[in-house]
Amino acid sequence: MIDYLIIGGGMAGCNLTYNLLKNGRSVHLIDENSPHAASNIAAGIYNPLLPRHHKVAYQAEYIYPIIESYYLELEQYLGETIHFKQPIHYFIETQAEQNDWSAHAYNSHLSHWIEVHTSRSDYNFKANNGFLKIKHSGWADAKKMTAGIKAKLMEQGALTNEHYEYSELNISEAEINYKGIKAKHIVFCEGCDILNNTFNTNLALKPAKGEILIIKTELDIDFIAQQGVFMVPLGDQIYKVGSTFSWDTLDETPTEAGKKEIVTKLEKFFKGSYEIIDHYAGVRPSSGDRRPILGALKPYTNAFVFNGLGSKGVALVPYYSTLMTNHLINGIPLDKEISTERYLKYSLL
Ligand SMILES: Cc1cc2nc3c(=O)[nH]c(=O)nc-3n(C[C@H](O)[C@H](O)[C@H](O)COP(=O)(O)OP(=O)(O)OC[C@H]3O[C@@H](n4cnc5c(N)ncnc54)[C@H](O)[C@@H]3O)c2cc1C
Repeated sequence: MIDYLIIGGGMAGCNLTYNLLKNGRSVHLIDENSPHAASNIAAGIYNPLLPRHHKVAYQAEYIYPIIESYYLELEQYLGETIHFKQPIHYFIETQAEQNDWSAHAYNSHLSHWIEVHTSRSDYNFKANNGFLKIKHSGWADAKKMTAGIKAKLMEQGALTNEHYEYSELNISEAEINYKGIKAKHIVFCEGCDILNNTFNTNLALKPAKGEILIIKTELDIDFIAQQGVFMVPLGDQIYKVGSTFSWDTLDETPTEAGKKEIVTKLEKFFKGSYEIIDHYAGVRPSSGDRRPILGALKPYTNAFVFNGLGSKGVALVPYYSTLMTNHLINGIPLDKEISTERYLKYSLL
């Protein structure tokens, strides 16, 4: 009997599997390899700043300091580069905003996270009112990350590439049995598809569709440019540009309206000419309260969930997959704000 059966091989499932293996546990992952999984679409940026609120993200002081070392270690395990530490230049739109930011950065702990620059960053951009240089930021190639972890699992015979059928699960306190795979515990990491999970209909997921463009331009920059939308330099003058947020139509189809929204925002700050070479859409597994969802699916003590990474999987996964691993292995309690306990009831059977 193995220790853990993990359902879903996006950033959540893959990183949890990696951490459990690192801690000497036996794991089997089932993943249907959906090309539209959020982890295959994500721009992969991590950015501690919430500009509209003049503050940093929830638990930023714990989450951001470990990102670099976590991905460095993962890169060593995978034998390939997946992480790019890079500042974000967040262009300031107006003089009034610039004054506001200068005051905030000077008066608060924000100076640890940002520098306010009153001169322009780069003449390829229209931004005349300076920029915030966001520190402790960058991006990771989430698609390469999950593909790399799954390739390792495949070598070890620890991956099944198929659709997981909820009706095939036999679960009791003593054992999990899924089509003959016997495990002590099961952890659901299906991203938005958890909405189809017959075992936990009460998790308050509020998925958000997003669209992204891939463009080619002659620009060469070594930072992520942002104002309304971001431009992430992928190398070879290729950039990811996005993204949109919509909560009404939760499909994976790129739309003309999505493209137009991105192009309009891009052209507001970017001067150069460009060609659109691709256009994707995916759905983010966001929670109603914008916190990740970790913990047990009561009344069982051997069924768990790791989800709710929303639009910040790359930033959240190093910290929360480690926390989840400690919870699973050592029973370290989870904060109520992120735990499944914050939902009043669970329907499991
Ligand atoms: C347009 C867009 C832009 C984004 N940009 C960023 C960004 O810049 N930075 C950032 O950090 N995050 C970004 N995100 C969010 C990021 O993608 C998510 O936070 C993260 O990918 C969630 O990972 P996950 O593993 O929870 O879900 P997913 O990546 O959706 O993975 C779920 C996995 O479960 C599998 N699965 C589901 N059901 C079953 C089943 N029944 N049987 C077998 N397998 C199953 C799927 O195939 C998939 O592989 C973006 C997302 C989108 C859509």
